[in-house]
Amino acid sequence: MGLEQYRSRQLWQALYQQRVGSIEEITSLPKSVRDLLTRSGLEIGLPRITQTFLSSDGTERYLIACPDGETVETVWMPNGDDGELGDGSDAAIEEADATSKVGSSKLENSIPYRRATICISSQVGCAVNCQFCLTAKLGVKRNLTAGEIAGQVAAVLNRHQVKIGRDRINLVFMGMGEPFLNYDNFMAAVHLLVEGMGIPESRMTVSTSGILPGIERFAMEKLRPKLALSLNAPNDSIRESIMPITRKWNIEDLLAALHEVPLRPRERMTFEYVLLGGVNDRLQDARELSTLLRNSGLPCKVNLIVWNPGPDIPYRMPAPEDVGAFQQQLIASGVPAFLRRPRGRDIYAACGQLKRTVE
Ligand code: SAH
Ligand code: SF4
Repeated sequence: MGLEQYRSRQLWQALYQQRVGSIEEITSLPKSVRDLLTRSGLEIGLPRITQTFLSSDGTERYLIACPDGETVETVWMPNGDDGELGDGSDAAIEEADATSKVGSSKLENSIPYRRATICISSQVGCAVNCQFCLTAKLGVKRNLTAGEIAGQVAAVLNRHQVKIGRDRINLVFMGMGEPFLNYDNFMAAVHLLVEGMGIPESRMTVSTSGILPGIERFAMEKLRPKLALSLNAPNDSIRESIMPITRKWNIEDLLAALHEVPLRPRERMTFEYVLLGGVNDRLQDARELSTLLRNSGLPCKVNLIVWNPGPDIPYRMPAPEDVGAFQQQLIASGVPAFLRRPRGRDIYAACGQLKRTVE
């Protein structure tokens, strides 16, 4: 457009740091430039939060509308769900440091320091068909664009007046969809979130159901969130029965691919394990799982998730004593295991419950 080069930097800052919703709000640009941008047909905007559901535990679930009318869900979890802290990771140590500074930041400005985790969707629905997951029932409608993925974060940050740098935000790509089946847009969104919004990639975790080619590409990335594999079973036969995708890529191949993903100092590979009553929650499953993970030679940890029920899903929750015994068995065998707090179950915001439920 023949504009000075620094205008592009101003535009970038307005979009990703100030998170403006319209060209008119970009007051760092003179009106003549804003008019020029508008006349050229350029449009900017944030996804709209059309509905908000509040949980008794502070979690908020949002229905977010894309320009074409499709909706996805995004979840705000004040204080996270313990999946990203309390586990000896770097994040946990930083959290402890930051918490001790709460008092002083309160004095400096009226909004107290905040930390929260945002759970983002990567697709409208999901094609993977895990038998225990409500999102699977939707099938996949379409991929989200990079802007729509990063835009969920911008919309939620604006709603809570979050200032990156002051507040501590973790991101988990664990909402609707399989990020590695929308790989290019997912990675482009990571770049926008890191380079544009200033959220460090070490505070992001992407979870995959085990899309082997995606893991292989991910291993080559320079800018890389932490990785979690939804393992959910100690062997292929149980995994196949709950995650049919195992027939395409089995556990052995997945573990081999994970070996190629470089880890940062003190980082460990995360394995998620949804406990389904009577299916994969027995003591023998825990023993088999710890042997599997120890033999893999990967520095790892297990995040245990108690299955969250949903309508027409033929499983039951594990008994609380079985959950405890499972976790203890892993720990006793030398595999760090953490129990994730279910967040927002009363509003269908917990893991595997995202189905655009509006009732
Ligand atoms: N598609 C990706 C990321 C989204 S699912 C993946 O599957 O990894 C995020 C996590 O929720 C996964 O670990 C999945 O196993 C888990 N999950 C799915 N349905 C669940 C349910 N009903 N209860 C508890 N966890 C569930
Ligand atoms: Fe898709 Fe993940 Fe649900 Fe499986 S668990 S159906 S991969 S969203």
